[in-house]
Amino acid sequence: MDSLHIPDSLLPADGRFGSGPSRVRQEQMDALFALGPDVMGTSHRQAPVKRIVARVREGLAALFSLPEGYEVVLGNGGSTAFWDAAVFSLIQERSQHVVLGEFSSKFAQESAGAPFLSEPRIIRTEPGTAAAAQADDEVDAFAWPQNETSTGVMLPIVRPEGAREDQLVLIDATSAAGGIAFDPLATDAYYFAPQKSFASDGALWCAVLSPAAIERAGAIAASDRWIPEILSLTTALENSRKDQTLNTPAIATLALMAEQIEWMLAQGGLAWADARTRSTSGLLHAWADRRPEITPFVTDPAARSQVVTTLDVDDRIDAEAITGLLRRHGIVDIEPYRKLGRNQLRIATFPAVPESDVQSLIGVLDYVLDAIEVAAQP
Ligand SMILES: *Cc1c(COP(=O)(O)O)cnc(C)c1O
Repeated sequence: MDSLHIPDSLLPADGRFGSGPSRVRQEQMDALFALGPDVMGTSHRQAPVKRIVARVREGLAALFSLPEGYEVVLGNGGSTAFWDAAVFSLIQERSQHVVLGEFSSKFAQESAGAPFLSEPRIIRTEPGTAAAAQADDEVDAFAWPQNETSTGVMLPIVRPEGAREDQLVLIDATSAAGGIAFDPLATDAYYFAPQKSFASDGALWCAVLSPAAIERAGAIAASDRWIPEILSLTTALENSRKDQTLNTPAIATLALMAEQIEWMLAQGGLAWADARTRSTSGLLHAWADRRPEITPFVTDPAARSQVVTTLDVDDRIDAEAITGLLRRHGIVDIEPYRKLGRNQLRIATFPAVPESDVQSLIGVLDYVLDAIEVAAQP
């Protein structure tokens, strides 16, 4: 396969199909470079940078059609830092976690490790399959991912049947937010980072908090629990209300994100983004149906992600050789999640990825698989 050359005419206009960091549109980069010396290299406590934070907060509120009382909160450290912020500021005593892959398991581990919390309840399912949270009177928070990026499984966002109002729903929407529709009223903390559907850079976390979550964070902050300031959601909330972050943010990350949110709104908002990712991921699923060498890793069609498609490759074909060949032709980051250890392709279709590029990628994969087949003929 090393000597195979893919004709330029087949290649997509943009070869970035990674699950995060993910492609940044050229228009976002242009907007970033157009930022003058009144923004880059200036204080984040002054109006020019605060205006960018305000664009992010107001843009997200519009994109998600946030109900009265829901607030957009920001902090540094990415979604991984938010897990610890949730452990310190949102979980009162015990949480329940649906664990279906690497990311969901990491949050569960943080909760299990906190000396001031009781052992979390874990609902575990095999990678590639879905599971749902279950009513449990002894937990005060339910946690699951909207999209488990390591396996390509997508879960519905609905409050567990029989759940009480004071039991918070914490949704890891890191790769789903902005690409998959949801009902904010079904969530209390809907958190994410900007390097996936928002086509920005990493190291920031954003969370949409419900009035119940804000109340819980306030009550815990007033208790005798010690909370590191960087992980305090009440501190993050106070700063966010002033369009700031506790400590210095990456201004470029915020600027790229503001551009992407406004672009999505101009295209038709979350309904548009949801339709687009359905359509682009649908092309990949339909392609998998056509190719005998390719099988969707997620067997239940209802659980297949709109934004991260995982496709197993027949064991007689080395998927790593395919991803390596494509990488040499500028098509990058379609390797599977490393720890999953499968002979697989993982292709992200975030809103920035147009149908035309997915069609080209499929054309390239057809070309490569057909060439392998011919070479294998006796
Ligand atoms: C990428 C990802 C994370 C980690 O995000 P960071 O910003 O790198 O901390 C967490 N959860 C999910 C579902 C992800 O896709």
